[in-house]
Amino acid sequence: MSVKKVNSRRVPIYRDAGFYLKDIPTMKKAFTDELTHPSDPDLYIYSRYRNPTVVDAEQCMAKIEGAAWSLLCQSGMAAIDIALSIFQNQNKPNKWAFFTEIYGGTNSYIDRVLVNRRGIEAIRFAPDGDTYDLDKFSSFMEDNRPSLVFVEAMSNPMLIVANVKKVISIAKKYGASVIVDNTFATPYLLKPLDLDADIVIHSGTKYLAGHGNLSVGVISGNSKDLCEQAIEYRKLVGHMISPDEAYRFNDMLKSFDLRVKQHFRNAQLIAEFLSKHPKVEKVLYPSLENHPTHQIAEKLFDGKGYGGIVTFDLAGENFVEKQKRCEHFTNVISDEIPLIPTLGDADTILMPVEPVWGNKYPFPGMIRLSVGIEDVSLIISAIELTLDKC
Ligand code: PLP
Repeated sequence: MSVKKVNSRRVPIYRDAGFYLKDIPTMKKAFTDELTHPSDPDLYIYSRYRNPTVVDAEQCMAKIEGAAWSLLCQSGMAAIDIALSIFQNQNKPNKWAFFTEIYGGTNSYIDRVLVNRRGIEAIRFAPDGDTYDLDKFSSFMEDNRPSLVFVEAMSNPMLIVANVKKVISIAKKYGASVIVDNTFATPYLLKPLDLDADIVIHSGTKYLAGHGNLSVGVISGNSKDLCEQAIEYRKLVGHMISPDEAYRFNDMLKSFDLRVKQHFRNAQLIAEFLSKHPKVEKVLYPSLENHPTHQIAEKLFDGKGYGGIVTFDLAGENFVEKQKRCEHFTNVISDEIPLIPTLGDADTILMPVEPVWGNKYPFPGMIRLSVGIEDVSLIISAIELTLDKC
């Protein structure tokens, strides 16, 4: 006996690579506008094109993002590839502007894929020290007239918060489309589509999935045309997420709100603790009044929180001493807070800054803490004990 439908509440994991089409008319119907306007949305063809388990998770994601549509793919980098590729215009030169303080992998993708392989002209807009000067951004747009702007809401590891609202309005004034990477701020703090962004992307691997064990990319928007292009591109390059991963992602989205609130609350308390510690020279956390983008963050995030990353610099007499302290701290704390190169995990994890970013940031004692959702007193006591030993 074949069981077709049971009274399950959730859309199950449909692992079919290809779906059963009972005859040629059904097949023809399925292939009529199969991707963008399927004549029967319940009729599926092939999981790389469209899959019911994935669609279910996408609908859940779209609600969280406040988007007309969300699409899932295999990783944040796949989302970036989709988001940027659909803006490539074959009929005219493509000049795109990128804020400099973005994920290193995105910067490499821009240089090695967009510029070297596809002939895109990429121009960069850099901060003035610790913050973006948006008057300069206006002049930059006036002088260069890029057709696309790509910005991250909160940078890594210095946590520079971009005034995304203003960036979007300036870009729009000059006719540019805007993509916002909202991985660090998350939809809990910021919904760039409400501010007129064209596309929002996430490394869903981070806070959205939130357990450090799932690679997911998310691309969301409101424009029907961009949605259709993104669906087509995802199909053609094979960036589709697997149904198993989409199902797990959907599970994790159900606790997204609860988790990020706890991440952000813990991060706030840890930032306050570190700010008072004599062995810590500097703490970067946007809620702190001395953070260069504190006021922007306060307004943009409407007091809901300031993110789950706390970056701090250990005190030391000179470069070498700070470097040694950073290494010592990282080794001593590793059972409680391990060195793991990701963030947004339910567990607190860390990354030393100088060994990863090199001389981009001249802070050899600096550590990026991705604060988890554990009991905050346990995290603080692990840090306190380790600092005592350093
Ligand atoms: N965007 C940001 C801000 C990131 O930090 C990362 C990865 O760390 C990515 C995109 C890429 O995401 P993924 O690793 O899921 O491909």
